[in-house]
Amino acid sequence: MLRWVTIAHEDHTRAFWGISEFLGRGSGVGKIIHGEDHATVKVKTSALANEVRKQTEKIAALVAGPSPPDLVLNRHCRECEFQKRCREKAIERDDLSLLSGMSEKERKKLHSKGIFTVTQLSYTFRPRRRPKRLRDKREKYHHALKALAIREKKIHIVGTPELKIDGTPVYLDVEGLPDRDFYYLIGVRIGNGESAVQHSLWADTAADEGKIWREFLAILEAVEKPVLIHYGSYETTFLRVTIDRYGQPPIESVVARAIGSAVNVLLPIFARVYFPTFSNGLKDIGGYLDFQWSSPHSSGLHAMLWRYEWERTEASGVKEQLLAYNVEDCVALELVVRAVIQIGETPSGRQNHGTADLNMVHADQMPDQSAWSRFRSPFPEFEQANKA
Ligand code: SF4
Repeated sequence: MLRWVTIAHEDHTRAFWGISEFLGRGSGVGKIIHGEDHATVKVKTSALANEVRKQTEKIAALVAGPSPPDLVLNRHCRECEFQKRCREKAIERDDLSLLSGMSEKERKKLHSKGIFTVTQLSYTFRPRRRPKRLRDKREKYHHALKALAIREKKIHIVGTPELKIDGTPVYLDVEGLPDRDFYYLIGVRIGNGESAVQHSLWADTAADEGKIWREFLAILEAVEKPVLIHYGSYETTFLRVTIDRYGQPPIESVVARAIGSAVNVLLPIFARVYFPTFSNGLKDIGGYLDFQWSSPHSSGLHAMLWRYEWERTEASGVKEQLLAYNVEDCVALELVVRAVIQIGETPSGRQNHGTADLNMVHADQMPDQSAWSRFRSPFPEFEQANKA
């Protein structure tokens, strides 16, 4: 039998399987102790024992094997110390796992067809006109078109991406600590370009979270016709959770309307705008649009580490680094929004959006290169045979 054992170490807890096998004592239930308040979760270990045994056998076989396991980039890479090395290798091999939106099942299916690289995949894209009856249906995502965009180094567009900002843009980027369910920094950028006004609402402790939320609402209330814009689902959750926690703004108020119709920019991009980037992450697309972060390899994970460091040391330099990171995310978001609006307004050709040339191809207008050209031969018999 297997048993969960939990060990508290600094702020983290770690669970270890298999101790009971060594001890020769079984247990059907284990406990996970986690978080600052040492919350406890009971787990029925007996239900998981078979699965864990299978996984440990697989790991043992991998460790004992003569060659390293296949390199497959995955969602844990950003937390892994080997990230740089593995990514370089994957790029060298042009591996399919570079395409972050592709599932393991999809990758294996392509492998079974003999497609192992992003370049190989790019040659499988076939432009098709959408039948009129499907025009209003959600577009399917094409990994092959993403691969083609990367190979051609051009933005590929399907249909007409629509992103209309009817009011004053308010770019929102939030930082938090998921393990403590605590939002500690709300970045708000109002307006565009040089005239934009930036606010960074900072909470020293979880007790200040309500205060920065109310400050955020007050800022939003003072904006004329605010249109709240964010990138991805993290801010959607933030808005929902904080409303649950601190109460709904008055119904039909400017603030309630802005929150209720907040725009997630990823939605008009998905399956419509294929940037020549391995992922649709803000860092990848912002980087493609020539935006440079002052800490080029920073990520949400780094932000969390900086916050923990600030809590431990209260070093002003670390706080400034975090604030700068959040401001830069807001600026990058503005840049992406302006690019997507321009792509929607002029869906083909080459144009300038202020920072870099947008080199675009409209996928619906690409020639279908799958059609065979007419077979010609110096021997008319061959042409006859081909025709038959
Ligand atoms: S960086 Fe490499 S070793 Fe680390 S999780 Fe990713 S693929 Fe595995």
